Amino acid sequence: AGVNELKIDDAPLPKSRNLDVLSEFEKSKSKKTASFVVVGHVDAGKSTMMGRLLLDLKVVDQRTVDRLRKEAETIGKSSFALAWVLDQRSEERSRGVTIDVATNRFETEHTAFTILDAPGHQDFIPNMIAGASQADFAILVIDASTGAFESGLKGQTREHSLLIRSMGVSRVIVAVNKLDMVAWSQERFNEIKDQMSGFLSSANFQHKNIAFVPVSGLQGDNLVRRSSDPAASWYTGPTLVEELENSEPNARALASPLRMTISEVYRTMQSPVTVSGRIDAGSLQMGDAILIQPSGEKAYVKSILADDAPVDWAVAGQNVVLHLSHVDPAHVRVADIICDPAKPIPRADTFTLKALAFDFLMPMQVDVHRGRLHAAGRIEAIPALLDKVTGSVIKKKPKIVKPATVARIVVKLDGLVPLEAGQRVVLRSGGQTVAAGLLE
Ligand code: GDP
Repeated sequence: AGVNELKIDDAPLPKSRNLDVLSEFEKSKSKKTASFVVVGHVDAGKSTMMGRLLLDLKVVDQRTVDRLRKEAETIGKSSFALAWVLDQRSEERSRGVTIDVATNRFETEHTAFTILDAPGHQDFIPNMIAGASQADFAILVIDASTGAFESGLKGQTREHSLLIRSMGVSRVIVAVNKLDMVAWSQERFNEIKDQMSGFLSSANFQHKNIAFVPVSGLQGDNLVRRSSDPAASWYTGPTLVEELENSEPNARALASPLRMTISEVYRTMQSPVTVSGRIDAGSLQMGDAILIQPSGEKAYVKSILADDAPVDWAVAGQNVVLHLSHVDPAHVRVADIICDPAKPIPRADTFTLKALAFDFLMPMQVDVHRGRLHAAGRIEAIPALLDKVTGSVIKKKPKIVKPATVARIVVKLDGLVPLEAGQRVVLRSGGQTVAAGLLE
């Protein structure tokens, strides 16, 4: 036993108050929480729109934006200032200025929102998969300026829509952006709305779960405040924020066993093993014993932060920071799952997936993405082709699966990974998404 181990074992165990967390939650009347991802073609205006939203909601102040604008002007790109609002906030985080994963948060009267995964990362799709697997809904940003929409629908708009749906996101708010560039043409808006409605229903979004808002992210029109441009007066529907408020978050699995995917691990004054992430299911409180998978190591919850403030307990749907004790940092990694020691998530190296094929599938090497986890694996077998609607078997043991069809496939991983039925998984190959689906 090294010095480290002694230190880990000698500290007194944190005390639990043994609260009935679910009844505390009922009593607390906390604000509704909701998380969303922002997707869409590169340059559609995702970062600019979120920067403007945070400015107009006064989450960031004008001084910050002015400073960024000055910096942007020095490289001749003053319009980038808003887009840098998000980048800057994640940079602050990496320098340790703020320690909460949910840096990009804002509140409206009834709801506390989290923007999952700031857009504009290099490695966008894997980040989007991680974000979408925790999102209640998505904002799909479309560039309405001439020609851009048409090329987008062939490319990333299409892939992103199919992916978020496969990851279980059922509500999408389409922000038809840059309408200032087409003089707020209602005709253009309707054209995009018609095409996208058709496409999104074929991607399995229900009609009632699709909304369209004409916006200018750059100018902040119809995001928080209504457009004052007379050319935009034909639109009298909800603003983007009103559409967000009108969206019902997914039901939280409050009474299920604890599951929390770790999105960051770091060292703080409070604990050498501090983790952040979202509680996917169940609840936890100070003093709880937890189990970390796949290492199978136990730890204790020393203290909890939610929205940067210390709390005694937290429930599914919340983004939290946990200070852990009695655990060696070597056993705690990004993408690991914290769970209830009495009902831990199992580990497996083989799983069966009911998958929508984006491309041709056959026995082949694949990268498996589940939340933040990436693992190497291989499609080992294809037991059946399934009916897209009913899920019943159409054909047994097909040699190949065609794009846009559904199949049951067996994937073998190179190592043990925490897995359970109901998780959403994406398979990629050569940087392309080849399939996405639900673990059986
Ligand atoms: P992202 O790649 O989707 O995050 O796109 P950005 O937010 O970086 O925006 C790409 C470009 O489009 C930038 O030059 C923005 O200034 C510009 N842009 C974004 N939104 C609007 C808008 O509403 N109107 C106009 N005219 N330009 C916009």
